[in-house]
Formats: sequence, structure tokens, C-alpha cells
Amino acid sequence: AKAAGGNRYELADADTDARVIARHSLTNCLPTALDNGEFFIEYQPLVRLSDGTVRGAEALVRWLHPAHGVLGPDQFIPLAESTGLIVPLGRWVLEEAARQARSWRCEGAAAHDGPMRVNVNLSPSQLRHPSLVADIVAVLDNAGLDPSALCLEVTENALIGADEAELRPLRQLADLGVDIALDDFGTGYSNLSYLRRMPVSTLKLDRSFTRGMQCAPADPVDVKIVEGIVSLAHTLDLSVTVEGVETGAQADHLRLLGCDTAQGWYYARPGPPERLHALSLADAAS
Ligand code: C2E
Ligand code: CA
Ligand code: CA
Ligand code: CA
Repeated sequence: AKAAGGNRYELADADTDARVIARHSLTNCLPTALDNGEFFIEYQPLVRLSDGTVRGAEALVRWLHPAHGVLGPDQFIPLAESTGLIVPLGRWVLEEAARQARSWRCEGAAAHDGPMRVNVNLSPSQLRHPSLVADIVAVLDNAGLDPSALCLEVTENALIGADEAELRPLRQLADLGVDIALDDFGTGYSNLSYLRRMPVSTLKLDRSFTRGMQCAPADPVDVKIVEGIVSLAHTLDLSVTVEGVETGAQADHLRLLGCDTAQGWYYARPGPPERLHALSLADAAS
């Protein structure tokens, strides 16, 4: 089911089958799915806008369900979150992704500015888990991966309202050299002053803001918003990653607006790890 190539499968429609599936069988088989090795990870390249080179990839988890086929994270992450399975599942994703990043490195894959990096999504329960820092340190150690090759993506919503004690683990990780990205930026409660006390190095601008640049002429309000966010981010010494880049015109526009890194179907859909390796070698050769 995981053959190479373009459209290997379609994720089931989240609004129809999945809702029904979710109530019944998913809850029952989620706990054993991890032991049965039913999860796998696809990697979507992160591209530096200034020169189009691949600097890393985001790890996106999928579930190859024995009866329902490939399910996307939107169909099981909420369930995993509410049943507590997200903690072992999230740890597995981290281990896999770190191992993968290490193997890219051993195979000679590199971004122009250093080793290929891997981005991993952290859920709110993982963030609150008392062994978060120790787990991540252990994962990096076991994989032999430098902390700077890992970026943890945390949603804005998970951090809103966090007090200093709740931010401490992230700050410790940031001090170790792990990058922290604020995911889905702009979709939460936008009191921007909270950015000043967050240990983050990257803002990952939600797709809803880049959609207005998919065709020319671009939506002038979206352009203004992106401009404002880029200027704020750069003032605070944060880098800006844009998601949902689907067209070349959109990529050009976002580059001109000063965005640093891009991710989206225009470059590549999420895919198997070997493809990322090939992309980075192609960069190196060009
Ligand atoms: P996200 O972190 O915002 O990830 C980006 C989502 O946008 C991915 O959906 C990706 O496939 C999709 N995408 C990428 N480029 C484009 C594009 O050009 N156009 C459009 N329309 N979509 C694009 P996916 O893989 O279904 O993941 C959905 C969400 O599930 C992720 O959103 C993330 O919040 C969550 N997720 C994925 N993997 C993990 C994980 O290992 N742990 C946790 N806690 N959450 C995860
Ligand atoms: Ca993400
Ligand atoms: Ca996002
Ligand atoms: Ca999103």
C-alpha cells in the first residue's frame, strides 16, 4: 500500500465514513495499532525560498488500517489525544523521525546550511507530559542526532495561556538547541505580545493566510497580513515558514514578501523518506 509514486492513495473522506468508523472500530483498534506496526510516516520537504533548496522535512503520521486503508492524522490524532495513546504514538513518531534524519545524514543528504532537519508535531498532552525533555534527549541520543537537526512544531493554541512553568520544558529544549516552531500561527487568539515570552524560533503561518496568494492578482488583505507578520517575526528574530504553497506564483509572491521557508504541494506532497533524500541530492548536484 505504500508503493512509491505520486498519488498512492486517497485519504478517506473525513466527513463521511471516518466519522462513523471513528466511533466504533477506531477506538477499539487504536491501542493495538502501534504494536502491530500499522503507523507509518510520510515526509514533506521544507524548501528555502531564497534558493529553492530543501532544508528538511516535516514528519506526518498515517495509519494503515487493516480494514479501512490509509487514514490521515485528522482522523485519529484527536482520538489518540483523548485516549492517551498520543503519548506512546508521539514518542514513536519522534524516534522514527530522528532515526530517519540520522540516516539521511549518513547517506549524505544535506541542506546547504547544514544537516537535513526534521520537523515533528507535538500534541498538547505530549507537551504537558512530565518526561518530555528526558524523552527527547533520549531519542536524540539513541539516534545520534544533533539537537539542531530537530524542530518541534507546537500549535499556537497549545501554548496560549501557558504560564512560565508550563513553558519551562520547551525552553529547556530550546536551550539544548532544538528549534521550536509555532504551528498554525495566526489561527489562535492573536495577542501578539505573548510571542515575546515564547521560546520559539519559527512562525509557521497557517495555510489560511497564504491561500489568497494562490492566483494572481493576490488578495490584497492577505498580502498585507503576511507582510505584517513577516515584519513582526523578523523584528523578533524569528523565521517564517509558510504552508499550503500550491502554485509557483504563490511561492514567488511569498518569497518577495520575505518569507523564509515554504512547504506545500507545489514542491511535493508528503511522501516516503527515500524521496526526500533524492531531492536533497538533486539540490547538491545543481
Ligand atoms: P499540520 O501540522 O498543519 O500539517 C500540514 C498539513 O497540511 C498536512 O496534512 C499536509 O499534508 C497538508 N498540506 C501540505 N501541503 C499542502 C498544500 O499545499 N495544500 C493543502 N491543501 N494541504 C497541504 P496532514 O498530513 O493530513 O496532517 C494534518 C494534521 O495532523 C497536521 O497539520 C498536524 O497537526 C497533525 N499531525 C500530523 N502528524 C502528526 C504527529 O505525528 N503528531 C501529532 N500530534 N500531530 C500530527
Ligand atoms: Ca505541523
Ligand atoms: Ca500547520
Ligand atoms: Ca494546519
